[in-house]
Amino acid sequence: MTDGARFGARRTARPDVVIVGAGIVGAACALALAREQLDVQIVDASFAGSGSTAAAMGHLVVMDDTPAQLALTSFSRGLWDRMADELPAGCEYEMRGTVWVAGNDEEMEAARAKQAVYAAHGVASSLVDAAELARMEPALRPGLAGALSVPGDGVLYPPNAARWCIERAVALGAVVRERCEAVALSRGAVRVRAAGGVEESISAGAIVIAAGIDAPRLVPELPIVPRKGHLVITDRYPGLCHAQLVELGYLRSAHGLSGESVAFNVQPRATGQLLIGSSRQLAGRDGAIDDVVLGAMVRRATSFLPALARCDVVRVWTGFRPATPDGLPLIGRWHAEPGVWIAAGHEGLGITTAPGTAALIAADLVGRAPPIDPAPYDPGRPMRPASDATPEEHACRAT
Ligand SMILES: Cc1cc2nc3c(=O)[nH]c(=O)nc-3n(C[C@H](O)[C@H](O)[C@H](O)COP(=O)(O)OP(=O)(O)OC[C@H]3O[C@@H](n4cnc5c(N)ncnc54)[C@H](O)[C@@H]3O)c2cc1C
Repeated sequence: MTDGARFGARRTARPDVVIVGAGIVGAACALALAREQLDVQIVDASFAGSGSTAAAMGHLVVMDDTPAQLALTSFSRGLWDRMADELPAGCEYEMRGTVWVAGNDEEMEAARAKQAVYAAHGVASSLVDAAELARMEPALRPGLAGALSVPGDGVLYPPNAARWCIERAVALGAVVRERCEAVALSRGAVRVRAAGGVEESISAGAIVIAAGIDAPRLVPELPIVPRKGHLVITDRYPGLCHAQLVELGYLRSAHGLSGESVAFNVQPRATGQLLIGSSRQLAGRDGAIDDVVLGAMVRRATSFLPALARCDVVRVWTGFRPATPDGLPLIGRWHAEPGVWIAAGHEGLGITTAPGTAALIAADLVGRAPPIDPAPYDPGRPMRPASDATPEEHACRAT
């Protein structure tokens, strides 16, 4: 037993854990905690796999903006890989790899530096020259300098992955309540309102807030803001590209639109469709398609992959990344309120880092040593934006 949480009998009126939010992070926590044989209840104001998770690209990617980001993304990508055989076909998991495309010699230098960091951390990658890149991905425009290939990165279909985690947790005894909104926390209990408007209080050994961009509604001190992104999905063009293609020159190219940014980021899906991203902007909760940002994003993508200009688009949508000032998620105990844990603020990497987040939360709840150093993700840490970018610009440069 750890302080702040009491565990034991299963499926009592007082569960061991209530998880607020059944997006990918809450769903992964539910599965990890059910695997610990804890009595888990999950409540979601909407339904499992909605929220940001439904809007995401599903790129499972090791990122190295900071050592803490590298530690969590590489650990968590490994956990997805270990689950690969269990994931049903509907999760569309594939180890596609990422090709970080360098437009010029300067970006090729950045690729070399990135490879050195990955190598030091045991993440396999290889430098690719211009001729090899043209052979690997012939639809890319001619004249690129080369690339860094990271073969172990993956893709999956996020809402189905979240629902699979929930189904697995339910099979292990967890209870899920959709259309059930948590409206307040109070001393070891969470007050919920079900679809019919009926309210009740659930007292639990631990309450895990995995409510994405809405987490501050329950814990107002959490510094999470919604960061909007657009995505485009095309009709089926199997074989047009093979790996997830992302530009390395993102930082130089991306910030011309007064705080808004776009980057070349194209993902081939198992269906043969192409998912085109990415954009980021601070626009409050206005989810309307922004034609200016969308146009810039598509032009950027087409400048790298000219064949996109001939592809039919099936759908365009927006979603919100739950962003924090320093670009790292908030994972761990909320010391201001005993019995409350936070698992939120994963910005553009929540699909990648959900299993790693769940492993950290589970280790803390059962009193086991953490699988990686949890300190950088402490929800109560002092936070300053990364020094090389404005708060609007920094954080998760790829997804
Ligand atoms: C355009 C775009 C592309 C992205 N691409 C990638 C990518 O390629 N790779 C990657 O790793 N990440 C990506 N992300 C980021 C990823 O989507 C998020 O980090 C992740 O989905 C966050 O998951 P979550 O579970 O924390 O939040 P959510 O998915 O938003 O889930 C939160 C859940 O909590 C529920 N909820 C909220 N408040 C309450 C309440 N009071 N009571 C009960 N339930 C509540 C909501 O209904 C929701 O279901 C992308 C995001 C966007 C927007």
